[in-house]
Amino acid sequence: MKKNPFDRVEIADGDITRERVAAIVNAAKRTLLGGGGVDGAIHRAAGPELRRFCETLDGCETGDAKITPGFLLPAPFVIHTVGPVYRDGRHGEPEALVSCYRRSLELAAEHGCASIAFPAISTGAYGYPFDEASRIAIRTTIRFLQAHPLPKTVRFVLFGERDAAAFRKVLGNIRSEDAPQSEP
Ligand code: ADP
Repeated sequence: MKKNPFDRVEIADGDITRERVAAIVNAAKRTLLGGGGVDGAIHRAAGPELRRFCETLDGCETGDAKITPGFLLPAPFVIHTVGPVYRDGRHGEPEALVSCYRRSLELAAEHGCASIAFPAISTGAYGYPFDEASRIAIRTTIRFLQAHPLPKTVRFVLFGERDAAAFRKVLGNIRSEDAPQSEP
């Protein structure tokens, strides 16, 4: 295992449905029955068997996650997590978003996934301010990786170079805040 959790995080610009990782994360709705945005893209790429499987799961609470096969996707697993709908940040949204990342990482580890790819959960239709959401994504991931050997690699796959650059900046900032302060 790489010792430094920051070296286990990758940031890319792309379409998450094409990722060849053990698990991709879906920003799902509570029904788990598909929707727009990344959810729609994942269901289209996985094929109709994904929806049929999801119908047996009885939905998912906000902040929680459930795992399914990836069907026609290159990724063997999809982890469906339900992000909070953003109101003003004082209705439990940060805690729910932290929980989405943590629960997804826990499920990946339990299923032996060496690699996982996340989109920027809640930052599309659910309206979470992008910078705040990216800080929560990175911080929660780093904390989890500090304590767990799996997943070995966490990729954030962002839709567009601007979003990827914003994530890279946040990763750099958090890395320098965490660095030992002893150097002159
Ligand atoms: P939510 O309802 O959680 O806000 P959305 O799907 O509307 O979910 O948006 C979440 C993020 O996923 C947005 O930043 C959006 O740009 C991004 N996104 C949409 N499609 C894809 C895709 N195919 N791959 C990666 N990210 C995507």
